[in-house]
Amino acid sequence: MRGGFPDFRLGSVLATSFTATLTERRGDAVERIPTPQRLVDWLAVNGLAVDSCTTAQLDLARELRESIHAAATAAALQKPLPAAALQVINDRSAEARAAAILTPEGKRIWRLGSASRVEDALGVIAADAISIIAGERSGKLALCASPTCQAAFFDTSQSRTRKWCEMNTCGNRQKKARFTANQRKPPRPTE
Ligand SMILES: [Zn+2]
Repeated sequence: MRGGFPDFRLGSVLATSFTATLTERRGDAVERIPTPQRLVDWLAVNGLAVDSCTTAQLDLARELRESIHAAATAAALQKPLPAAALQVINDRSAEARAAAILTPEGKRIWRLGSASRVEDALGVIAADAISIIAGERSGKLALCASPTCQAAFFDTSQSRTRKWCEMNTCGNRQKKARFTANQRKPPRPTE
C-alpha cells in the first residue's frame, strides 16, 4: 500500500500490466487506479508520464482497460473478438499522438505529444494490446487459473504452459490453498 492505495501489479507486458490495475475480477475486485492521481502514478512507472489527469480521463482509461480485458479474454479462448471492445481499443489507438523513440542504449521509449495527454498514453497501451491480440509478438494469451482472478495474461515462457497471471500472487495462493486442503498445518518451527 502506498498512501493508502493498493500497490500496482507490474509485469513485463504493458497491455496486461494495465488490465492488472483491476485484480480479482471474479472475486473481491481490487481497483488499483481508484483516483486520477493513481493513474498518473501508474503511467509514470510505465514510462508514459503525463502532465495531469481528470476524472473523465480516468473513466476513459478504465473503459480501455475493460475493453482490452474483454478482447484479450476472447482471444485467449479463441472466441470472436467483441465488437464494442474493438471499437474502444481502435479509437484510443487512432486518436493518440505518440512516437517510438530509440535511445542510444538501444532501448525503445515512448514520447507522447507535446501536451503529454492521458489520451496519448492510452493510445500506446491500446497499440500494445493490438500487437499482442494480433499475435505479432512471441507468446500466447492465456487466462489465469485462479478462479477468483481469471485475468488474461501474455505467456512468454518457453513451454507456453504458464498457469497464473503472476507466480507471486495467484500462483502462491493456489499452492497454499492446495496445501491447506491436503494437509494438517505442520507445527511452526521455532527460530
Ligand atoms: Zn491471476
